Amino acid sequence: MLRTALLTLGLTLASAHLAQAQEQVLNLYSARHYSTDEALYDNFTKATGIRIKRVDSDDAGILARLKAEGAASVADVILLVDAARLYKGEVEGLFRPIRSKALEEAIPPGYRAAPTADGTTWFGFSTRARVVVYDKAKVKREEVQTYEQLADPRNKGRICIRSGSHPYNLSLFGAITEHLGEKRTEQWLKGVVANLARDPKGGDTDQIKAVGAGECQIAVSNTYYIARLMRSSNPEDKALMERVAIVFPNQGSWGTHLNIAGGAVARNSKNAAAAQRFLEYLASPQAQDYFANGNNEWPTVKGVKLTNPALLAMSNGAFKAETIPLAAVGAHQVKVQQMLDRVGFK
Ligand code: FE
Repeated sequence: MLRTALLTLGLTLASAHLAQAQEQVLNLYSARHYSTDEALYDNFTKATGIRIKRVDSDDAGILARLKAEGAASVADVILLVDAARLYKGEVEGLFRPIRSKALEEAIPPGYRAAPTADGTTWFGFSTRARVVVYDKAKVKREEVQTYEQLADPRNKGRICIRSGSHPYNLSLFGAITEHLGEKRTEQWLKGVVANLARDPKGGDTDQIKAVGAGECQIAVSNTYYIARLMRSSNPEDKALMERVAIVFPNQGSWGTHLNIAGGAVARNSKNAAAAQRFLEYLASPQAQDYFANGNNEWPTVKGVKLTNPALLAMSNGAFKAETIPLAAVGAHQVKVQQMLDRVGFK
């Protein structure tokens, strides 16, 4: 009896030891700052047994860290929330090109890096639009139909926006540079600065709340922050969303600016196969559903049906998004930062 028990114990210890030795860990460097993503990672671990170890930073911090760590980096998967930064990581050689039939079939070419002879470096798994929110009682819809109108003198003293140097704005302004040219974009930025109700501070949600507080009348925000407020059960959020309306700018011209959140395998990953498996998981219907319903983003995978009520409501089901080469947006970033300095956009 005792002997059997000891034998069983021995076997249990041996298998626990084996499991530990075999436990695979993926090091994820992530700029995604959304609490709903926890379930996304847990499900991957449940399905594969691969544990996720996360290092959180912003896009720029992650790219700088990868560069500094070089070949010694433990990073396996990189998740960024801005197309220009994904492009930067690609250009700086921080990502490992991969070949994945699953990803190439699932994700349209506009939402991933251009393929090279070695493969594709990054894939976009979700998108967010950068839109205008305005006070219905004080602003007429026709005053905020386009990004260009944010610089219109009739909107003087009305606008709240986060820092011009934040990646979401750098990419928006980079896109506008592509549409309008450098000279007109700098004039436009000057006009936007002249229209600010206050110096830029806080995140996108803070700008919408400032409209609610009467500090400004027009705010610029990514759509998922708006959807989060729309789905909130907090009475203050409900009152705020009653007060404001949303415009997808430039529906009559080049379309609303869209940004991409995506991922890549780190150049020096020691677990490249598992890292690729993780990216393929992000394109699965289950993961795409997390992006859509957990964090209120538009899924990029073909054929995934959007059911998020807030996203459907704010866009009336669909909207016209801009179509520009991401490389162009990325390439404009340095110029945009110089323009911001010249026009005093903090
Ligand atoms: Fe964000």
